[in-house]
Amino acid sequence: MSTQTFTLSEPLYSYYRSVSIRDAAILRRLREETARHPLARMQISPEQGQFMALLVQLMGARKCLEIGVFTGYSALCTALALPADGRIVACDVSQEWTAVARRYWREAGVADKIDLRLAPALDTLDGLLAQGYGGSFDFAFIDADKENYRGYYEKTLRLLRPGGLVAVDNTLWSGRVADPAVGDADTEAIRDFNAWVHRDSRVNMSLLPIGDGLTLALRIA
Ligand code: CA
Repeated sequence: MSTQTFTLSEPLYSYYRSVSIRDAAILRRLREETARHPLARMQISPEQGQFMALLVQLMGARKCLEIGVFTGYSALCTALALPADGRIVACDVSQEWTAVARRYWREAGVADKIDLRLAPALDTLDGLLAQGYGGSFDFAFIDADKENYRGYYEKTLRLLRPGGLVAVDNTLWSGRVADPAVGDADTEAIRDFNAWVHRDSRVNMSLLPIGDGLTLALRIA
């Protein structure tokens, strides 16, 4: 018996999914459509989507923020978990990818919960702060270009209420963060971000080895 988190073998991962994933048909179809996309690896895993939906419900979240929409899977998971008056401000720059997202959000009946902003996310976040939305969001998910992670995180923290939670994707980066031979800009940005959050006294944090690594940071001040 080890106390260390272990890599799941194929049979155990298959079993794990069989007893943990509760899939709405629309989520499965969106995953299947996205799997044919050349950037399919950018989609979060079903277990991560389900976990984030549970977090949103656990917190009683109503106001959410998403940075990096892609084909809309995580926003769909979140929107389905929100109450009828819940809202997501969703940031992306791709008309093409978010066209897929919009199609599924409409079909799922959650399109009116999602306010998609097609612009650089740092600008959208600055706009929200300028409009007085600081301290008002319950939950945020950051899953966009890695070189801006620190910037997204800092602005997001200002937008969260005390007790609000930010989840940040890809913080284990397929293990490359731990490989000293890897020094590309994305990997360095994630290392820098991980070290920054680890010593950030404004939050309580936990880095979960789910999917590609998911950092949770709860604003306490
Ligand atoms: Ca990701």
